[in-house]
Amino acid sequence: MSDFFKTRLEASDPLIGDALASELQRQQTQIELIASENIVSRAVLEALGHPMTNKTLEGYPGNRFHGGGEFVDVVEQAVIDRARELFDCDYVNAQPHSGTQANQAVFFATVKPSDKILSLNLAAGGHLSHGASPNQSGRWFEAHHYGVDRETGLIDYESVAQMAKEIRPALMIAGGSAYPRCIDFERMRHIADSVDALYLVDMAHFAGLVAAGVHPSPLPHADIVTCTTTKTMRGPRGGLILSRDSAWSRKLQSAVFPGVQGSLHSQVIAAKAVCLGEALSNAFKNYGKQVVENARVLGQTLSGHGIKLVSGGTDTHMVLLDFSARDVSGQEVQDRLARVNLTSNKNPVPFDSNRPSEWAGLRLGVAAATTRGLQQEDFKSLGDIIARTIEQGSESQVRDDRDAVLDLCERFPIYG
Ligand SMILES: *Cc1c(COP(=O)(O)O)cnc(C)c1O
Repeated sequence: MSDFFKTRLEASDPLIGDALASELQRQQTQIELIASENIVSRAVLEALGHPMTNKTLEGYPGNRFHGGGEFVDVVEQAVIDRARELFDCDYVNAQPHSGTQANQAVFFATVKPSDKILSLNLAAGGHLSHGASPNQSGRWFEAHHYGVDRETGLIDYESVAQMAKEIRPALMIAGGSAYPRCIDFERMRHIADSVDALYLVDMAHFAGLVAAGVHPSPLPHADIVTCTTTKTMRGPRGGLILSRDSAWSRKLQSAVFPGVQGSLHSQVIAAKAVCLGEALSNAFKNYGKQVVENARVLGQTLSGHGIKLVSGGTDTHMVLLDFSARDVSGQEVQDRLARVNLTSNKNPVPFDSNRPSEWAGLRLGVAAATTRGLQQEDFKSLGDIIARTIEQGSESQVRDDRDAVLDLCERFPIYG
C-alpha cells in the first residue's frame, strides 16, 4: 500500500503522465494568445496539487457540516479577507467552482424562472452564461440581448436604455468575453435604476486589471459582481461573487451552498487565496500596467498593418481582429497562427454569423505572454509576425517566424 503514496504519475499511469508532460512542453514552446488564459505561479500550482484536496467540507468558515475543517477555514477566510481588501467590498463568496457557476448562483439568489434578463449578445462579446439559448440561463429565463453600434463597435447605451424600458428586465448584466473596451458601469447603473432592475457586472475577463488598478472598478456601481480567478487574475480555475451591499449576503451564501453547489474544492480555495495574495502585491500592479501597454502596442502594430480591430483598439488585455472585409475566416487565421506556435481562438465579430466555422474574427489576449515577461518591443515583433501570418507568407517565412516565436519562448521560459 505504501507505493500508493509514493509512485509518481509518470510511472503509475503513462497515458496521463505523457499527456501532462506534452502539455507542459506545449505551453513552454508556444506563445499563448488566448485572452482567457494565463500562466499561474509555482505557488498557485503547489496549492492546487496539495493533499488539502482530500478534505470534504460543506458550509462556511466556522459553520461547517464536517469536522477537521480548521485549516480550510484559514484559507477560505484568507480568500474573503484578501478579496475584500483588493476589491474594496463587504461581501465575498469564495466557493463558486467557475465563473459560470458564480453567475448561476447569482441567478438562483435574485431571479425566478421565466423572469426577464438583459445582457450583451454573444456576437458582440457576451457570455453563454448570460442567457444564451443552449445554456441553462437561456432556458430558465426570458433572455434579451443588447448589442454594439455597427460603426463604433461600442455598446450602444441609448439602445440599451430603450430596450430596458420596453422589456423591463428583472436583472441587467454588463460584461462579456470579447468586448475589448471599458464599459460605462455608471451609465448602466442609471439604466438599471430607471427600470428598477437588479444590476450584475460579470468582470471575468478584466478582474485582474481592476485588481491592479488599471481599469475602472464596477463595485461602486453594481449590486453584485462576479468574476473568475483565471484569466487576468492569474489564479486557479474558479469564481468569486462580490458585493458592496451586504443586503445580498444571506441570499448569496445560501444560493452557492446548498443552492447550486455541494462541498467546496478545498485545494482550489487555497490556490485562490494564493492568487489574491499575489494580486495585492506591487508586482501585480506592474503586471497589470504592462498588460494594458502590451495590448495597446499589439493593437497599434496590427492596425498599422491594415488589420481592422473591433472598436478600433483596446482598453484592456484583448484585441479583437475583424476579417469580415477579407477573404479569410477566423478559423483559417487561428490555424495559420498555430503553425508559428501562436495559440489563439476564432471569435464572432459584432453582427457575425452564428456558425463558428463562418466567424470572421480572432480574439487575442496578452495576459499570459505578459506574465512570461514579454514587453512592448516583443509585442511589436509579435504583431508583425501575426500580420505576416494572416497574409500567409512563403514556407520559409513561416519557418523564420516560428523560429522567432521559439526564440521568445526561450528568452522567457516558464516552469524552468
Ligand atoms: C470566462 C467567462 C465566464 C465563465 O467562466 P468559467 O470559469 O469558464 O465558467 C463567465 N463570464 C464571462 C464574462 C467570462 O468571460
